[in-house]
Amino acid sequence: MDPESPFPSDHGRCPCGSGDTLGACCGPVLRGDRRAATAQALMRSRYTAFALGDLEHLLRSWHPDTRPERGELAASLADEVRWLRLDILGTRAGGPFDADGTVEFRAISKGPRGRQEQHEISRFVREDGHWLYVDGDL
Ligand SMILES: [Zn+2]
Repeated sequence: MDPESPFPSDHGRCPCGSGDTLGACCGPVLRGDRRAATAQALMRSRYTAFALGDLEHLLRSWHPDTRPERGELAASLADEVRWLRLDILGTRAGGPFDADGTVEFRAISKGPRGRQEQHEISRFVREDGHWLYVDGDL
């Protein structure tokens, strides 16, 4: 395992709030052991990657056309932010047989500037069987 990204126990609660353990939810997706089958699953895994500071998964799941520079993303992950909750508000398409989809969510975090609420409709595309995050409307 990469010592730079220590994972919490697979038996703990998944940060994405699915109610599953990390090992039954986002853990295998972050490690690259399993693909996210749906846009929502990828969205959840990305939230978990933000919560755990998993830079590699964020870069890998970001469409190359819109992906930020590694250094820029690493800097944003270095901010002292605690991710408190993810609510999935709605999805459109994004299933195993779709080529694209959207996921509307609300993410609550607490950082240096206090409690933040991010409400976004994210766009995803599926390329070669992999869901990728494209961009989102805040
Ligand atoms: Zn999860």
